[in-house]
Amino acid sequence: MQSAEEFRKYAHQMVDWIADYYQEIETYPVKAQVKPGDIMQQLPASAPQEGESMQQIFEDFQKIILPGMTHWQNPNFYAYFPANASFPSMLGEMLTTALGAQCMIWETSPAAAELEEQVMHWLRDMLGLPRDFTGVIQDTASTATLCALLTAREKKTAYQSNEQGLHQGKRMRIYCSTETHSSVEKGVKIMGLGRENLVKIPVDEQQSMHVDLLRKAVEQDVELGFVPVCVVAALGTTGTLAFDPLQEIAALCQEYAIWLHVDAAYAGSAFILPEYQHYLKGIEGVDSFVFNPHKWLMTHFDCSAYFVRDCEALINTFSILPEYLKTSSRGKVKDYRDWGVPLGRRFRALKLWFVLRSFGVQGLQNIIRQHISLADELAVLIKKEDDFVLRAQRMNLLAFYYQPTEQLDQESLNDLNQKLMEQLNTSGKLYLTHTKSDGQLWLRMVIGQTYVKRKHVMEVWKVIRETARSIKT
Ligand SMILES: *Cc1c(COP(=O)(O)O)cnc(C)c1O
Repeated sequence: MQSAEEFRKYAHQMVDWIADYYQEIETYPVKAQVKPGDIMQQLPASAPQEGESMQQIFEDFQKIILPGMTHWQNPNFYAYFPANASFPSMLGEMLTTALGAQCMIWETSPAAAELEEQVMHWLRDMLGLPRDFTGVIQDTASTATLCALLTAREKKTAYQSNEQGLHQGKRMRIYCSTETHSSVEKGVKIMGLGRENLVKIPVDEQQSMHVDLLRKAVEQDVELGFVPVCVVAALGTTGTLAFDPLQEIAALCQEYAIWLHVDAAYAGSAFILPEYQHYLKGIEGVDSFVFNPHKWLMTHFDCSAYFVRDCEALINTFSILPEYLKTSSRGKVKDYRDWGVPLGRRFRALKLWFVLRSFGVQGLQNIIRQHISLADELAVLIKKEDDFVLRAQRMNLLAFYYQPTEQLDQESLNDLNQKLMEQLNTSGKLYLTHTKSDGQLWLRMVIGQTYVKRKHVMEVWKVIRETARSIKT
């Protein structure tokens, strides 16, 4: 395909297909119903020598690829955390793709750099984060957390670990709760500190970090001559959306000059609601903060918002200056290649700008509020049933299990709920996942897809009850 005219023809065809797809999305099974290898065996062993027609490629997309996709934008997607898309975001992404720009430095696309700076200001203020925070878009929260850990390490060693490596000096320590996301452990491994130097602090019955145990761990480490470098506090853990007590953790970090990074990857979006601002108490003592608009702020993956107070420290950690990147504007503008791991950068700010303008702050608030109120409503219904036990509800996350009789031991109860989950997911009508707490398996349901409505939730609750009661124990 060479000409713009040919492109126009297929692009129109595909946009029509996309609009139909969204109109019919509920007719697809939410979770892909294929087995390992099903897709691979339909694909030729090598790339074609001669080009094929777009007609043929598009047909194969529908025939081979589509059945192997899980439909994350189906309103009945309740698994993991959502990766919300929306129409405004998609239009923004289309234009980003159209421009095909590589936005590594200001010079390579001034508008991309300046729009990113401005939409990150908007986001910072929407969330009520301190005004001395500066933002940058990263691909994922895992990358943002890695940046925070590396910056904390560099600041603590006066930028010497980047210079000399880690072979000398004292043992450095990182702290998080046992419920914190695995990206922290991955980050600690990548940064070369060794997994043994990640100290996992136990949680209380609310799954929040025990701050007195954190204090003990820090004091003990100091006594042993170790260097506490960073604490990662979770605002909304992945398992059950637990919140660590930020204010107390911040006070401790200040006392010991420890970098405090906040992982609010999922729940951060809810901070645009005044009623959830209280979780941010203590934010003045935080050094860096990440949340994912690509989870719950109607913005396509990938778009992770990373905020940092001392952006000099961040830049000192990451900047390198080969000859070919020396420009006359350097120092006067933001060159985001110095703000993280990759050199090359997609123009991600554009879709965010489309989302923020098209929905408006109130539009986004309304959707998030609606998700939470649907979860509130379902929580009441679950509690009403004698054979279901609601174990946790926070924001729009529900954790519950089916217990037809008190006679079942823990293992049989877990097996029963595992079976229930598998049956639900293979029905294609909904997709939910599980979490484990103290050996108990809980079904975990997050009501957060952009276009989910009350009727969806009521219908799947009926499916869940009927499926559960049809399983022979
Ligand atoms: C999803 C999630 C992450 C990881 O997010 P990525 O953007 O996929 O790296 C980290 N922390 C928490 C609390 C999460 O929910």
